[in-house]
Amino acid sequence: MLGRSLHLRHLDAGSCNACDWELAALLNPVYDVRRLGIDFVASPRHADGVVVTGPVTRNLEAAVRRTFEAIPDPRVVIAVGACAASGGIVGVGYASAGGVDRVLPVDVYIPGCPPRPEAIIFGILVALGRLDARRRPCQG
Ligand code: SF4
Repeated sequence: MLGRSLHLRHLDAGSCNACDWELAALLNPVYDVRRLGIDFVASPRHADGVVVTGPVTRNLEAAVRRTFEAIPDPRVVIAVGACAASGGIVGVGYASAGGVDRVLPVDVYIPGCPPRPEAIIFGILVALGRLDARRRPCQG
């Protein structure tokens, strides 16, 4: 499953920053996901998927779409936290489009406010399985 590295682009679409701190913890010496070949990259063109935190603010809606479109196929979308999953406490309004699935096809929802690093790692591994299935050529 981890025969290839997994590169993800992190996108803060309007979070309070707590989900982002939990994501950042994945790179510290306790969790150290880089030892598994999982890393975050600066460009969506180098990524296998996007990890989105926060509700999608109207200001960033177009940027979220453009980031997704820049990621080569096959790609995965991971929504981290209650805001990304459903809009959370922000919901839908004049400044917020709501959860990420109102803008992008989400593959994995990771609940929590914020989710613990262990939950994020679990969600990334679920996404890795989906990516692997998409990479396999059609059978029959
Ligand atoms: S889910 Fe909670 S911690 Fe994450 S961005 Fe929303 S309010 Fe902040």
